[in-house]
Amino acid sequence: MRYVEPVFRPPSEAKSLLLQASIGCSNNTCTFCGSNLVKKFGIRPLEEIREDILEARALYGERVRRVFLLDSNALCMRTEDLLEILNLLYAVFPYLERIGVYACAADALEKSPEDLRKLFKAGLKIAYLGVESGDDVILKRVRKGISAEQTIEGCKRIMDSGITLSVTIILGLGGKERWRENAMETAKVINRINPPYVGALTLMVVPGTPLHKEVQEGRFQVLNPQEILQEMRLLVENLELTNCVFRSNHASNYLPLGGILPQDKEDILRVIDLALRKASRIPLRSEKHRRL
Ligand code: SF4
Repeated sequence: MRYVEPVFRPPSEAKSLLLQASIGCSNNTCTFCGSNLVKKFGIRPLEEIREDILEARALYGERVRRVFLLDSNALCMRTEDLLEILNLLYAVFPYLERIGVYACAADALEKSPEDLRKLFKAGLKIAYLGVESGDDVILKRVRKGISAEQTIEGCKRIMDSGITLSVTIILGLGGKERWRENAMETAKVINRINPPYVGALTLMVVPGTPLHKEVQEGRFQVLNPQEILQEMRLLVENLELTNCVFRSNHASNYLPLGGILPQDKEDILRVIDLALRKASRIPLRSEKHRRL
């Protein structure tokens, strides 16, 4: 198996076979993202991907149940090539239950609803997509390259195809200046998407990124842990979802928690309030233990 390091995968894909289909990110513009610094975007040749699948079968046997396609947005690959990879994986691993992928909303909008449906039928069961923020001002500032409205459209296209959608948002992405907007506008966007999974991450400023420069020059003020909790509280308070697993279990977060919305909303808010009022009762993750 060949990997262009470093590789990232969602926490819930910890036990999956990681297959590198693309390298880096085709968007590559976000000011907070470190992936731009270390990898040049590329799609791996199909022949190499086929060789890796066969090697994985030799290494791990037939009982692989989950596969995750790397890298940052492998959904941007040509639909025909993705279909070939999915079909080969299910043929080689007869016990395979699901294949997952990272995606950008723009990738979903590049594909027709029929293409996405074909991918779902071929076994692409889950897509992880970074909404990051629902605030257009923030999205523009961080050069995400997509608006909130387009993000909603792309997410809905994925969900309409049958593919399960798991979205992530970034607490603190608006800094001190737009923390309220980050919480409120993101809640509005998430409510309109109404996905089954929402994961909250907390902004970590990666040295060498344009955002790092903004911080050094005093143009962006990073929220402290208490402010992050206030933002998370405002976000959760304003989420109106029908059936959603909400988690902040990513290693970047100060307060890992989770629950099902809407029924666990009050419990989640109570824990945040307790952490805000009595930090000694609910210790926060220390800076040195936070990771991306
Ligand atoms: S945040 Fe996502 S879309 Fe933006 S550059 Fe990084 S990997 Fe690409």
